[in-house]
Amino acid sequence: MIVSRCRRCGVNRAEVYLAHSNLSLCPECFTLLTERRVRHTIESHKMISRDDRLGVAVSGGKDSSSLAYILHNLYEKLDMVLIYVDLGVPEYSSHCLKKVETLAKMLGRELVVYSLERELGFTIGDVRGTIYGKKPCSACGTIKRYLFNKIAYDLGLTKIATGHNLDDTVEALFNFYIEGNVKSLVRLRPYLPKTHPKIVPKIKPLIGLTDIECYYYAEYKGLPIRTLECQFSKGSRSVRRKELLNTIVEKIPSFKHTFINSHYKRILPLLEQALKSQGQGEGTEIYDCPICGMPTSLKGMPCHFCKIVNMIRGKVEVKVS
Ligand code: SF4
Ligand code: ZN
Repeated sequence: MIVSRCRRCGVNRAEVYLAHSNLSLCPECFTLLTERRVRHTIESHKMISRDDRLGVAVSGGKDSSSLAYILHNLYEKLDMVLIYVDLGVPEYSSHCLKKVETLAKMLGRELVVYSLERELGFTIGDVRGTIYGKKPCSACGTIKRYLFNKIAYDLGLTKIATGHNLDDTVEALFNFYIEGNVKSLVRLRPYLPKTHPKIVPKIKPLIGLTDIECYYYAEYKGLPIRTLECQFSKGSRSVRRKELLNTIVEKIPSFKHTFINSHYKRILPLLEQALKSQGQGEGTEIYDCPICGMPTSLKGMPCHFCKIVNMIRGKVEVKVS
């Protein structure tokens, strides 16, 4: 039997094959290289500074658990808190909560839990019956983005780290290209700096790692990760798009890496220039939401989060009466 040796140490048996760089690695070398790649992403984008107070958005999934673990190891002295938003999805949310509680204990880090049901009186399932009924993930994304920012702002945190990886980013870029959504293409970056006093900067340290790399990393480190899927994820558009992109990767292993590099190095600067020349550059107006007071791009109207909350509350009130 031919045993393939790790290309890095040449001693241990290789268990992970990274097709995009044609590299076979043993678990020790794989986890070490993964951490180095994350550190490189953080340093090249100047994502973290010593005096940051960092919030890590955790979900119980492989990506955010790996992210919290890697950040804890790379920046042991950094002030860091884990944040979990409990969406109230039956079985799934309590299952994920247990995983993030175990992770927080393992790292010795504080965990802040925000329950939608306790704080706002509804769960994500209540978007059914509103115009978001067929795409709850879209409402869920808006709710989570808003809450992570609001919680971090209220806690006085200076940055929020999310577990968005390469697959998530390529999927989102692909979607924006298809829609011709230039503004969103320009906004989707590894590091979103502060553009308003109430907007906490966002960082995506895992943007260079694939889904499968995050999965192997979490497995090899024995991290507590969820084994249940959210009931709303089935057949969602983003899942279908990811499947489609994976069929391309079967033929062209480096497709996602090339796609993202071309976008950030060649296309994005041109898009930025084009927007600026049309007077739509950095100066996008930001207004205060008349309901919650948080920043919004909608002039004189409730922010997207408050709109969804109003919609759900409207529906709930109709039900009650
Ligand atoms: Fe939210 Fe959709 Fe993810 Fe469920 S699958 S947690 S509804 S984004
Ligand atoms: Zn609002």
